[in-house]
Amino acid sequence: MRGRSTSSEEPAPFDIRVFGDPVLRSRAANVENVDGALVAVVDDMLATMYAEPGLGLAAPQVGISKRLFVYDLGDGPNAIVNPVISESRGEWTYEEGCLSVPGLHWEIIRPKEVHLTGFDLDGNEVSIEADELEARLFQHELDHLEGRLLIDHLEGDIRKAAMRTVREQFLGLL
Ligand code: ZN
Repeated sequence: MRGRSTSSEEPAPFDIRVFGDPVLRSRAANVENVDGALVAVVDDMLATMYAEPGLGLAAPQVGISKRLFVYDLGDGPNAIVNPVISESRGEWTYEEGCLSVPGLHWEIIRPKEVHLTGFDLDGNEVSIEADELEARLFQHELDHLEGRLLIDHLEGDIRKAAMRTVREQFLGLL
């Protein structure tokens, strides 16, 4: 998910895939092994996220179709492997942006609270009760693992206008 501050000077190790890249529309596969290679990928994903800057980044956004995302909401870097949202409650409206649809953002309604489970880079199970921005970030990143993008949450005329904009901007179609 996109952040609001300015980008850092460090170059990003990965190029971020943008709307139109098929990897963003694929369902990502489970991570089978948490090993040194995965940790190296996570380090490069975090450096890419900080360079943009983003609050979160899912593996498909750097062309890796695996169930993994990184994030930092101000408490330092985190990575979650094979995440699952087991419960969600309430409703919260937030203007959401995405590094894969840069420069655009839409007000989107989603559950306000979620319970997320998954694994950390030591292979330990994690269980997080999240609300508001953290819950929003988890839902946004899990969407990426299912091949869903922001625009899929829009309806009616707003969706039509958004589709027109992204097709013009990212596919060069008029
Ligand atoms: Zn995104």
